[in-house]
Amino acid sequence: PNVVGARYLASAVRADQYPEGDFAEVAFIGRSNVGKSSLINSLCRHGGLARTSATPGKTQTINFYSVALKYSEEERRQFLLVDLPGYGYARTGRAVRRQWTKFIDEYLAASPRLKLICQLIDSRHPPMDSDKEAFRRLAELGRPVQVVATKTDKLSRQAARKSVAVIRDELALPGDAAVIGYSAADGTGRSELLDVISHILLE
Ligand code: GDP
Repeated sequence: PNVVGARYLASAVRADQYPEGDFAEVAFIGRSNVGKSSLINSLCRHGGLARTSATPGKTQTINFYSVALKYSEEERRQFLLVDLPGYGYARTGRAVRRQWTKFIDEYLAASPRLKLICQLIDSRHPPMDSDKEAFRRLAELGRPVQVVATKTDKLSRQAARKSVAVIRDELALPGDAAVIGYSAADGTGRSELLDVISHILLE
């Protein structure tokens, strides 16, 4: 499958601002600066879709994009790609963390069509406390999570493999849960992640 169309739909800070309709949703979360905007742009092959910025921690809205996937000449699926605000920015304190949790919980509670959450973790460091907290929260809410290790081009192949093992370990992922290594810079992991998403949309 490949992406044949992607466009910005809406931004929301409250549930009544979420776009209407019954498209399946795939959400993306991660620490500020983890490479979430770059991954979304690379996944959709659309350089300017999500904002990439040098000032992390600024986007505090939930952004919705409409994305069309083509499986074959006959088979297409449209879904909403949901860009959730980044967490764990060094300068944000407890109050901001609480607000993030409330934001996310509100979205998760309001969204029966959410099929998958891709949690992004920087492959260059072991998962931080905020990563573990977010992962636990998603598990608690019973949502399916695909963990993605970002910026793997910054590591050697061996170090990237090691990073995946550490992430798996620190999050106590079950043995059969795949962590996808991803590089927005060279496209590593893109087809693997697209496969996971397209599979889930057909279920
Ligand atoms: P966000 O805050 O999570 O949306 O992160 P951005 O996508 O804005 O990326 C943060 C920084 O990391 C930017 O300077 C990007 O150029 C860089 N970056 C993001 N993804 C990659 C990647 O796959 N490889 C490399 N080398 N740099 C990346």
